[in-house]
Amino acid sequence: MKSMQDEEKGRWFVYFVTITIGLAFSITLLSITWNNALERNKKEFTLESFSLRESVARNVRSAHNVTNNFTAFFKASPELNENQFSVFTKTLLLQHEFIEGAIYFPALERSANPINDSEVMMPAFYQAMREEHHVQEGLKLYRGIYNDGLANTLSTGDVLTLAGEGSEFEGKKYWMFKVLDVEQSNSDSHEKTSEKVNQALIGVLVDSAKLFGTSVTSTGLALTIFSNASSLSARQLLYQRESMEADSGWAVALLEEEGMTQFPSYSIKLNVKKELAWQEVDKELVFNALLIGVGVTLLIIALVRAKDQQSRELKERNIVIERQVSEQTKELALTRDQALEASRVKSEFLASMSHEIRTPLNAIIGMSGLLEETPLNTEQKNYISVFKKAGDTLLSLVNDILDLSKIEAQQLELENISFNLLETIEESVEIYALKAAENEVELLCHVDEELNIYRLGDPARLRQIILNLISNALKFTEQGEVVVRVNADPDDKNGSTLVFSVSDSGIGIPAEKLESIFASFTQVDSSTTRKYGGTGLGLTISRSLSELMEGRIWVESEEGIGSKFCFTAKLEEEMPDEKQAANNTSLSDSKVLIIDDNAVCREILKTKLLANGAIVHEAAIAEDVYALFKNSNEDAKPNIVLVDFKMPKMNGFEFIEDLQTRGINTKLIMMLGAADLNHNMSRIKEAGIDAYLLKPIKRNELIQQLESIQSGDMPEKSTGTKKHSERDDVKPLRILLVEDNPDNRLLIKAYLKKLPYDLDEAENGQIAVDKFRDSKFDLVLMDVQMPVMDGHEATRTIRAWESDNDKVNTPIISLTAHAFKEEIDRCLEAGCNSHLSKPVKKATLISTIQEYTGASQS
Ligand code: ADP
Repeated sequence: MKSMQDEEKGRWFVYFVTITIGLAFSITLLSITWNNALERNKKEFTLESFSLRESVARNVRSAHNVTNNFTAFFKASPELNENQFSVFTKTLLLQHEFIEGAIYFPALERSANPINDSEVMMPAFYQAMREEHHVQEGLKLYRGIYNDGLANTLSTGDVLTLAGEGSEFEGKKYWMFKVLDVEQSNSDSHEKTSEKVNQALIGVLVDSAKLFGTSVTSTGLALTIFSNASSLSARQLLYQRESMEADSGWAVALLEEEGMTQFPSYSIKLNVKKELAWQEVDKELVFNALLIGVGVTLLIIALVRAKDQQSRELKERNIVIERQVSEQTKELALTRDQALEASRVKSEFLASMSHEIRTPLNAIIGMSGLLEETPLNTEQKNYISVFKKAGDTLLSLVNDILDLSKIEAQQLELENISFNLLETIEESVEIYALKAAENEVELLCHVDEELNIYRLGDPARLRQIILNLISNALKFTEQGEVVVRVNADPDDKNGSTLVFSVSDSGIGIPAEKLESIFASFTQVDSSTTRKYGGTGLGLTISRSLSELMEGRIWVESEEGIGSKFCFTAKLEEEMPDEKQAANNTSLSDSKVLIIDDNAVCREILKTKLLANGAIVHEAAIAEDVYALFKNSNEDAKPNIVLVDFKMPKMNGFEFIEDLQTRGINTKLIMMLGAADLNHNMSRIKEAGIDAYLLKPIKRNELIQQLESIQSGDMPEKSTGTKKHSERDDVKPLRILLVEDNPDNRLLIKAYLKKLPYDLDEAENGQIAVDKFRDSKFDLVLMDVQMPVMDGHEATRTIRAWESDNDKVNTPIISLTAHAFKEEIDRCLEAGCNSHLSKPVKKATLISTIQEYTGASQS
């Protein structure tokens, strides 16, 4: 509120300053132009008054001269009669317009008694007037002179001006007098002698107005003429004319000039005044200046106002925008909360749905597996395999849909743990070894030897993509091979991005479908499902996962030739520790011959061996091998032969026999698939083969096998995966099975039936805790969702009891229906050692039990 007031004040202050500046500017401009205009008028006035003064001075001088002439005239003819006077005066009047008349007093003598109007007897005098009625004025003057004794105050030669005060001349006409001595030689009076000198007075009546002649042109002038005589104390006003323009309007200046005309005994002063009227000033410039000033002021005000208006509008707009933004933010926050809530609800729904579907599935798949192991006729076996397959499909569908929902809900978080890339890839490939062998398709794997195999990332999700691609490749390939390769991405200089590829020699994909197969539920054609099964979700999930790993997925394919699916993933390198680094070995003494009809297989093996320093020969057919042994000298002859079991003309065993009959003696390693191994175990022993390798061949197994053959330190002639068979040498265990669902309890019991395990059952967590306290168990299988007390709670209680009683922790394996990472984490937090996700597979269950209870060997 305060700031609003301050703002208002500030605004008014700006206006005030603007107006002040505008006014100051206007006033300055106005005063400059006004002064200029006045100056011009003053100059005009000065010029005019000068010419006026000049003309008055000239005429006054003429009047003075007239009196002098008069004087001279009277002096020359002292016995002047009236006639002569009148002739002389008339001439004078004709010559000088401004002279109105003349008067002559022959004897200026003061009478003892004042003369009054009625008295006729007066000393003689002459007068001549231009206008007859002025004669009376002359008489009046004559009387005045006698009565006032003026004559006595004058001395000879004095010139005196006398305004016609109290007469009709007042302010219009004045007299000019001069006293002169006149000798009277023939006086009538006997007392007077001819020597007597009389004082005579001559006077000239001057019309003041006419003194100016025609030079008064301009209006509004006030004219005044004064006279100053040495004989008179005060100055006399001889003429006065007020400003002619009575209604001249507003006076803006008073102009005044004075001029003086000096004579021996008096002076005449002319005063010219003028009140300069507003109308007379040249206003155009002033008005222009005023206009400019006002215009500029208004312009500045307008600018300030526009600026003010603009800033106010901006402020208002800002307020509106701020309000809108805050409303939108609120809405967004609300929407986000709703979305989060929706996604939470969705994932909760998915979790419980997953549990609901997996629990019966668990029973279906498990039971069908068990049923398969009972004596059945062919028809029954077919039926069982159908619903087992359906169960598997349903399970993978549930898993896929769960994954996809999690990805879409952006809930899928990748792990970032250190893992062994080589192991992850080789194990993934191994999963499909059997299937590949069944299909008679060669499944090969090669991780670039140069790659650092110690990486950071999410191995489980990486495996998921690889498995999906291999599964597809095997599904769509009837013959030939499926090759998995891992290389460094040449575009990434850091070496953290890897390119994975799964190529096959299958049916291929039409060019127009290459993009669309990555969309959800999309297959190349609708008959695919019927023929090959699948849901059309695998590639969608793979794409999302590779994108989560900052990579991308793409496919190159040609119909009838095969497809190559590639994806990239960013997996940071981790420095190998010393033990791992020491694993690098050298096969520098090995001269290895590879015999395999499959060129890709030969090529991969060769690369692996070369990278480890071996000398490598290869052959596709037996003939080449014989030639090699025959032609090379002893040193160059191969000392180890790697033979593929499956070859077109003769199989591995036949070839070895042939070799042996030809007397070629060398170390022999057979390469064969797990399925072939089972049927040929006895043959391997008989044939005198030094070792065998299960396909797809793992890098480390190959190297180790060759190393031990080379060093003569022969391991057991069986490598490959350890099989958890139900053997007698399994350690007997006491297991507590905690599970509320009787079907699932039955299933687990069935799985473990043939093993020397003593199973005790508990229907909920509470019973489990009680049983655990009462007797000793080697392991606990703990379901999570149970009535009374759930698995988490039961595990926590058991762990607390153990620590209170100083007991060693018994392994607890949780059985979760939820495949979510959060759920697994919750189990581990509660104190479980590991977890198994339902539906539990028999083999996984057994191997996990054995893993956590020590080796299976007693
Ligand atoms: P699914 O395999 O479950 O149908 P996918 O998303 O994994 O779903 O694959 C989508 C489709 O892409 C498949 O149905 C198939 O038509 C095609 N496809 C995938 N991999 C290959 C392959 N290696 N060769 C030929 N076609 C393939």
